[in-house]
Amino acid sequence: MLINLSPIINGRYDKEAFEDTFELNVEHGKRVGALHVSPIAFKGEVSMLDDKLFVTCHYCGEFTFSCDRCLEEVKLLIEDDFETRLITAEQEEYYDGYVVENETLDIVELVSDELLTHMPLHVLCRENCRGICATCGKNLNEGECNCDDAHIDPRFEVLKDLFSK
Ligand SMILES: [Zn+2]
Ligand SMILES: [Zn+2]
Repeated sequence: MLINLSPIINGRYDKEAFEDTFELNVEHGKRVGALHVSPIAFKGEVSMLDDKLFVTCHYCGEFTFSCDRCLEEVKLLIEDDFETRLITAEQEEYYDGYVVENETLDIVELVSDELLTHMPLHVLCRENCRGICATCGKNLNEGECNCDDAHIDPRFEVLKDLFSK
């Protein structure tokens, strides 16, 4: 979705509202590391304030990840609000903001960028997920397996490595 900023820059309107949904493109999807991503919904407005262009926006989408420890599917609703100043390439030297070219804002690109910076680094199905047995592969959240090895809480695995050196 492209938003023509000219009417706002020229002072014809002082704000313009937008609302839409989009599918995350394949490249972004890979970087997110999710198994599945719902369409991303977003809503907001572009406005001019004291000769400065701003965009405010809310977005949300449902992401399916696999748990870092047991690989079970975990669904997370990720949503956030953001406000960014829009600047031209010439202004970049002096101001912080999102650079737009030809008075056109690619809002899908901007929302995708925001989304990527807010992805969780670690995803667990539950805080105390016990993971899977390294020997037989059983999901230990569903009960003990019959392997002899004592199961070490994955949170302490770092310590085990430390002691075995
Ligand atoms: Zn888990
Ligand atoms: Zn086992």
